Amino acid sequence: MSRIHTLNSQTANMIAAGEVVERPMGVVKELVENSIDADSTRIEISIYQGGMERIIVRDDGCGMDATDATACFGRHATSKISNENDLWSIHSLGFRGEALPSIASVSELTLKTSDGSDAAMVKMSYGKLVSASPYPCSKGTEITVEGLFYQTPARLKHLRSAAYEASLIQSLVCSFALSHPEIAFVLTSDERDAFRTTGQGDLQEVLFLVYGRAVSEGSIPVSFSDYDYKVTGFLVNPLQSRAARSAMHVYLNGRMVRTYRLYKAILDGYEDFIVKGRYPICVLNVEMDPHLLDVNVHPSKWEVRISKENQLEDLLRREVRNALKQTTLAPAANVPEARVEYYEPISFEQELNKPVEETKAPVPEEKPKPAVVQKPIKKEEPIKQPAGFPEMEVIGQLHNKFILCATEDGLAIIDQHAAQERVHFEELCAVLNQQPVMTDCLIPIVLHVGYDIVSRVGELNASVADLHISFEPFGNDTLRVSQVPSWFTDIEEEPFLQDVIDAFRNESNHAYTHFERKRIATMACHHSIRFHRSLTMDEMKEVVRQLSLCENPYHCPHGRPTFITLKEKELTKEFLR
Ligand code: ADP
Ligand code: MG
Repeated sequence: MSRIHTLNSQTANMIAAGEVVERPMGVVKELVENSIDADSTRIEISIYQGGMERIIVRDDGCGMDATDATACFGRHATSKISNENDLWSIHSLGFRGEALPSIASVSELTLKTSDGSDAAMVKMSYGKLVSASPYPCSKGTEITVEGLFYQTPARLKHLRSAAYEASLIQSLVCSFALSHPEIAFVLTSDERDAFRTTGQGDLQEVLFLVYGRAVSEGSIPVSFSDYDYKVTGFLVNPLQSRAARSAMHVYLNGRMVRTYRLYKAILDGYEDFIVKGRYPICVLNVEMDPHLLDVNVHPSKWEVRISKENQLEDLLRREVRNALKQTTLAPAANVPEARVEYYEPISFEQELNKPVEETKAPVPEEKPKPAVVQKPIKKEEPIKQPAGFPEMEVIGQLHNKFILCATEDGLAIIDQHAAQERVHFEELCAVLNQQPVMTDCLIPIVLHVGYDIVSRVGELNASVADLHISFEPFGNDTLRVSQVPSWFTDIEEEPFLQDVIDAFRNESNHAYTHFERKRIATMACHHSIRFHRSLTMDEMKEVVRQLSLCENPYHCPHGRPTFITLKEKELTKEFLR
């Protein structure tokens, strides 16, 4: 007896929905893509409870007539391609004809649309047509999606808090706005203004609206091309960096995609200009013949395949580098390989996993006992608590970067920045354990963070309560800090607080976000201002003294070595003696 049968269309649509729309953000993505494909100049998105209660997307695009208003819910019903050849020259964002039937199969959907002469309203409920009737409205389309996933509890369970879902949608709309500055976007969340652009086609203005003044003023317009690819957009000055990749926006023919190899190529271009482990902010659109871009990889269309991808990577790497070079930016100091040869870098995690109690009290004032002369820990040996620290006598400074010291068996070269970072880090760890003294900021620190974070300020404050930092809403997309603990005097406040917020945003998918003290100290340390200057002999001696008192004097908080040694024996060998 045969057992195979074809699934009915509702079941097939629900299966497709599983891939096309995983969460409210996916619904907004599909609906907005349709609005863009319909040549809209203005797209309004309203979400309620992070889209879990209701999503409305309204546009002023070409609309549909009454026939298409019901036909669009058919499986694989599309106006965008008609045969297999078209798959190789896709100019629209959609082409699969799957989004509307999928969304309609897992929600209550109302469509109101008009092409300027004909108009209709169609209601669908979990895959079934409820009604279709004439409905006078102006040209354009409005789609309302309610009760998303109510009949698919497995999917519902995967959704997180309304605030979290709203923040994903906000990032998505910002990303659409950056790829289409010529379209006016309006996002409201529970009736409150969350984000809007004017649609005047000014990408720098959109950058300002998404990331604030400093970023938009630090942006460098770029335009470069080769035979196959043309790239335009903005690179942001690496001084405005982020702790995660989320501010790297790359579009292929105006399409939002996740393309890790291209992110990497851009990052490579930034390499000499940005601090290791940081990510740049950029908005780049790559134009190419649609033949080179296979978008038919996954139903959600986040993934694509690019022919001649290596060539595009080379182009990005080279031109990003050139553009940054031309803006005469001082390169961030790179870690030379030589240092790594001597001390095994330890990972950030190793450092973090140590219990807080291990932290030493602040550096005592009295002179340390003469340290026992001991060989530095070599690669083969395990890195444990150092029993001693080589005795060092400061000889001088090299290039305002290195402190040169004589040791019993040779020369020690201290990376002054790394050494001071280590000292500062241990001081901070100790200070963070104490009740802080709060100081009023002369000028409150104002941070452009976006409405998604402003609306979660309570959650944010709870996660940083240990640090005694308190953010207050200051307008719709800005937060203000007017009091800081006194240990802030040594760090650049604004970038540090921006990092704290980014860390909160990027980890918001964890149920419980909490900042460990050590991690905060590392972040704070990263933004320390006291490192970049030439030192007097006494100051250098003080650096060496303080380093010798550290719990772990051999590595900076990021795991890089603080000093290397050259043995006299080896030097002698170099001179062929
Ligand atoms: P696709 O976008 O892949 O074609 P969809 O299911 O998203 O598939 O949409 C089906 C069709 O419905 C589209 O091809 C388009 O003709 C029509 N459509 C959907 N949304 C809109 C809109 N906002 N404005 C005009 N037409 C639309
Ligand atoms: Mg579509």
